[in-house]
Amino acid sequence: MHHQALHRLFLKHVGQTSSAPLALQIERAEGIYMYAKDKTYIDCISGISVSNVGHGNKQVVEAAKAQLDSYMHLMVYGEMVQAPQVELATKLASVLPDSLNSVYFVNSGSEAIEGAMKLAKRVTGKHQFVAQYLAYHGGTHGALSLMSDAYFSQKFVPLLPGVSFIHQNDLSAIETAITDATAAVFIEPIMGEKGYVPSDIAYLKAIRKRCDETCTLLVFDEIQSGYGRCGSLFALEKYCVVPDILILAKGLGGGMPLGCFIADKKIMDVFQDNPVLGHINTFGGHPVSCAASLAALNFIIDHDLAEKANAKEKEFRRLLVHPNIKEVTGTGLMLAIDLEDKIYCRQVIDKCVSAGLLIDWFLYSENKIRLSPPLIIENEAIEKICGIILENL
Ligand code: PMP
Repeated sequence: MHHQALHRLFLKHVGQTSSAPLALQIERAEGIYMYAKDKTYIDCISGISVSNVGHGNKQVVEAAKAQLDSYMHLMVYGEMVQAPQVELATKLASVLPDSLNSVYFVNSGSEAIEGAMKLAKRVTGKHQFVAQYLAYHGGTHGALSLMSDAYFSQKFVPLLPGVSFIHQNDLSAIETAITDATAAVFIEPIMGEKGYVPSDIAYLKAIRKRCDETCTLLVFDEIQSGYGRCGSLFALEKYCVVPDILILAKGLGGGMPLGCFIADKKIMDVFQDNPVLGHINTFGGHPVSCAASLAALNFIIDHDLAEKANAKEKEFRRLLVHPNIKEVTGTGLMLAIDLEDKIYCRQVIDKCVSAGLLIDWFLYSENKIRLSPPLIIENEAIEKICGIILENL
């Protein structure tokens, strides 16, 4: 179909979520590049922290194809022994702390948040939650309830009652916010849509301690930071703080849809009875997604991409020096350029996209530019990216 017709039909028949969608027509993507009909883009956002191992990663594509040839959907989640799920869960357990050994697979980040909320209610017998101001946890009602920003949630009330919020790194708020009545605390160890802001170690340790004192589950949303992006395989390694539930999605699927929440088997087993099927889903842990995910994880580990993200961060920081850049925040390959204001920030982003560099903004930090390239990026491309940004500041 001609690209003008595709554009028109996209606007007409595909549900729209903004009056100004990016609307690029990409015909092929490989590595860090996206190819439109007559233009090549460097992807510096990875589909919002998804394509960690690069577009069209050969190992991932081969694993997915091999699984397509064996079987796709067989049965609803949890009934059949599906090798791709078992192998991925076993590998995840092997690279995580001992207590994170049981993986419940879903299809997306929001669903994983919902599952974790339900699990926390069942395990603790409590129903109050604590979350962070300006965290992003997803588009479903439960996830929206954990988000403080009224702009995105006020039109959807009523949401879940009993949610209170703390400011990231505010040690003084922890004791009063987390009480014996709290079922779970949801934390993004490195906050995403707030503009890639890492937590202080003392803050996460204090939350862990308070959760232990009050029999509250600590949940880490590592949907953006996980799978190597933050400079370690998971942010929890950087902080040496082990949550009771770890949530992954985005990069987890290696480009396929996949989410999961991970806990100790002792915790997860409450879903087995009273009611039986305590959390149900049809497609969770789709075998093709799990095969792709395992290949992606092996690729990250084999190529040491998590550790290498730290040197690549340094290279970005070395090059991104300019009077208009107030600060570069973030860690590993989740970095944000802090500029003067929103209008200027949008102008810079638009100019970079026109120049063939795909970058974008944050939901809650509109004066920052998001840099979240595939982890396979090399220094030469980092130089090129920074050159384009500096030219357009
Ligand atoms: N948590 C975080 C930290 C996220 O960045 C996102 C997605 N932007 C979600 C949860 C929700 O994931 P999904 O869009 O797959 O439902």
